[in-house]
Amino acid sequence: MRFDPFEEWILDFVTAISLGMPAAPPPVLAPRRKTRKIKVGKVEVGGDAPISVQSMTTTPTTDINATLQQIAELTTAGCDIVRVAVPSADDAEALPIIAKKSQIPVIADIHFQPKYVYAAIDAGCAAVRVNPGNIRKFDDQVKQIAAAAKDAGVSLRIGVNAGSLDKRILEKYGKPTPEALVESAVWEASLFEEHDFHDFKISVKHNDPVVMVRAYELLSERGDWPLHLGVTEAGPAFQGTIKSATAFGALLSKGIGDTIRVSLSAPPVEEVKVGNQILQALNLRPRKLEIVSCPSCGRAQVDVYTLAEKVTAGLEGMTVPLRVAVMGCVVNGPGEAREADLGVASGNGKGQIFVKGEVIKTVPEAMIVETLIEEAMRIADEMPTPENEAQAGSPVVSVG
Ligand code: SF4
Repeated sequence: MRFDPFEEWILDFVTAISLGMPAAPPPVLAPRRKTRKIKVGKVEVGGDAPISVQSMTTTPTTDINATLQQIAELTTAGCDIVRVAVPSADDAEALPIIAKKSQIPVIADIHFQPKYVYAAIDAGCAAVRVNPGNIRKFDDQVKQIAAAAKDAGVSLRIGVNAGSLDKRILEKYGKPTPEALVESAVWEASLFEEHDFHDFKISVKHNDPVVMVRAYELLSERGDWPLHLGVTEAGPAFQGTIKSATAFGALLSKGIGDTIRVSLSAPPVEEVKVGNQILQALNLRPRKLEIVSCPSCGRAQVDVYTLAEKVTAGLEGMTVPLRVAVMGCVVNGPGEAREADLGVASGNGKGQIFVKGEVIKTVPEAMIVETLIEEAMRIADEMPTPENEAQAGSPVVSVG
């Protein structure tokens, strides 16, 4: 008898548990495309390194305390690498302290002024993002930038963006097509490679997921550069989440992508949450809290939306792999609740509470949320994970 990959994984998982072996990793949709590995400070990007999640601060970089506080919040939310904008000399001056105090690698984002590239390298930033389309006579600077980055052990991102595509290429193609984005990126990559500099990743961002996906597909056929995925200016939280999840899903499901940044017109912590959820949904990062809740229908005997929202809010920040089922009636309720670590099947003003497949109690509807949160906390406390032990309150950073 043949099994599909998921059935095989379940079999391996069950066998591993019964033999006391570590469980096999869960199945993914495609093997990662082979890229070369670079380092962004302590975080590896590309090759067999886990796909990392990035975000960007929204505070003025000159406000060092506020920027470090936001970086600490991003770190707690699961951000691996953070980028800060460097539009002025004052921002460049803030970089040494920010780079030193941040718990995660800091990338300086440079447009227009090449002198800030060198300032960021001197400041101890882990990497620098350069936008060739926005830096005048960028090609003349490549040799010097490559030498400075190489001496300091700093990596770069060649960040091509539809909104600031190199004028020569824009004239040739008329608009930022996938081919135009790729031509710009490949050209700039070749200039760095001519100077024997290879520690860079590439992004080719566009606000249209279809153009963006095609650009990354084309780019992935042209070289083994690690790729930073992003749908630029993806929009407010709802639209931006959908666009990013759709585009990243299309690429990651083919093994394309080594680091991701979700761009939302929303606080950057939201970007990190969405990025982590996308990776978790594709089994590219271990799943943490997962709420399985039904959409509700005419059979629902409780207000499923409110129940699911309250349980989600009550368990926010939980970092252990817990699957909680919130189901509206007895059609699928007991089955889903039984499959989850914890669940409720509701009906007749009551909720049957399941833990690890067994009914442990039946509570009145008004007690369902409270009971689920209580049980979830108890189960989580019994899970001996390092993250669980390290879990603390809101981070606070002060600059001394
Ligand atoms: S579990 Fe029940 S209420 Fe929820 S969608 Fe299914 S049938 Fe409808």
